[in-house]
Amino acid sequence: MITQAVNRLSETTIPIVDIACSTIDDSNFMIECIQAGAADYVLHPLRPDVIKTLFLVLYRHQKMDLYQDHRLIYSSTTLSTSSVMSPTTPTTLPTTSNHNSVYLPDNIHERMKHLITKDIKEHKENLKGKVSSWDFCPLSLSHQDLIHCVVIILNQVFLLPGMHPMNQEQLYDFVIDLSNLYHDDNPYHNFFHAVDVLQCIYYFLCQINLLPFADHSTIKTPKDDKRHYILRSIDIFALLIAAIGHDTGHPGVNNAFLHGFDTYLGGVESSQYKATDMSLHCDYVAKIKEQTKRLMDSHSTDWDEARIIEERLLFCSGLMKCADISNVARPFPRAFEWAQILVEEFACQGDLERELGLPVLPMNDRSKIVLEDSQIGFIKFIALGLFESIHGYMQDLSFPVEHIKKNLSVWEERKKELIDKEHEIIEETTIVQSATTIGKL
Ligand SMILES: [Zn+2]
Repeated sequence: MITQAVNRLSETTIPIVDIACSTIDDSNFMIECIQAGAADYVLHPLRPDVIKTLFLVLYRHQKMDLYQDHRLIYSSTTLSTSSVMSPTTPTTLPTTSNHNSVYLPDNIHERMKHLITKDIKEHKENLKGKVSSWDFCPLSLSHQDLIHCVVIILNQVFLLPGMHPMNQEQLYDFVIDLSNLYHDDNPYHNFFHAVDVLQCIYYFLCQINLLPFADHSTIKTPKDDKRHYILRSIDIFALLIAAIGHDTGHPGVNNAFLHGFDTYLGGVESSQYKATDMSLHCDYVAKIKEQTKRLMDSHSTDWDEARIIEERLLFCSGLMKCADISNVARPFPRAFEWAQILVEEFACQGDLERELGLPVLPMNDRSKIVLEDSQIGFIKFIALGLFESIHGYMQDLSFPVEHIKKNLSVWEERKKELIDKEHEIIEETTIVQSATTIGKL
C-alpha cells in the first residue's frame, strides 16, 4: 500500500512527503514502512511534541538544498564587510549521515561488530589521550571515534568503588542507539555537542578527584572531602549518562520558537522547558553560591537523607549547566569553532521563522548577527558568573574561568578591529565622495 502511494505521489509534481501513521507499535512493521519508501513513521495518536519535531525534520529535509545555497550566497556577500556569523562554514562541520541507515538494525549491528572486532587498541590509546585533554575537539572526530570516546569515558566509572564492568557489547549497543537519537541535521545540537558536554563533565570530575583520567596522565591523590559524600559512584554514572543524553531529539530551535510555533499550529500546548534554559540561569547562580556557603559551614555527614538528595541534585545541575555552555571556556580555536556552529543554528531558526511569518529576533537574523557581539554578551552576562560560582566551591576548577577571561579579551580585541575596519571603510567612502564632489565642481 505504501509503495503504491509513494509511486503515485512521485509521479505528481506536488511536494508531498509520505509519512506512515499507525497504532501498530511494532519495530519490524515500522522498518517495513520505511523500506517501502515512507519518509517517517509516527505512532497514532500523535503527541504534540512529536508533531513539532516531525514538522521540523521534514522541513529541513525539503529545504536542505535551498539552505545550502542560501549560506553560500550569504558568505560571498558579507565576507568583505565584517566577520559576522559563520561566513565560512567550518570544514569540520558534522557531516550528514545516510539517514536511512539509522532505521536499519542490520546496518547498526554490522557497524557494532565492526567496532568491537576491529583491533583498535593503539587507536583507543590515542583517543584516551584526546578525551583527557581540555583541548578536546569532537568536531574533528568521526562518528565512530565519538562512539569510542563515549565508551572510554563511561568505562572509567566502572573503576570506581562499588561499580562493576559492563558488558562491552551492550555498552556499545547502548551508545550507538543513543547517538542515533540525535538529529545530524542540526548545525549545533547534535551528537558532537552531546559528546563535548560528556567530555566536559568527565574532565571536571577527574580534576576534582572523583574520577580517574583514562590516559593515567594525572593521577591525583584522592582527598577525603565533602564532595565524595555528595556524589556516590552511581551518581557519577547517572551524571555522565545525563550528559550524553541531555539533548536527544533536540529539534534545533529554542523554546521561544516552539512557544511561537504553538500559535502557528493553532494552540498546541508546549510544556517542555528544560533545566538548561537560560531563563533559569540567575536562580542557579544564586543557589550555587548559597550551597558554597552551606558546604563551608557544615559537614555533609551531619545531613539527613532528604538534605543530601537536595544538595546532590543542585551539585549535579550546576556541573551540567556549566558543561552545557563550556564552549566559551575551551581554548580559543575550539571556542571559535563552536560559536560559529551555534550561531549558524540560530540563523537557521531565523530563516524558518521568517518563512512561517513569525517575528525574527536580531539574534536569529542572518543579516544582523555579529559573532563577536554574541560571544561577548554571553560570556559577560551568563558564562563568567556561572563558572565563577562553581569555582567558588571547587578550587580545582579555576582553569575554565581563566580560559573564559582570556577568550573574552580575544573577542573584544576582534570587535575592536571590526570597528576600526568599519571606520576605515567609512573614511575611505567619505574621501571618495568628497573627491567626486570636488571633481564635479
Ligand atoms: Zn546541550
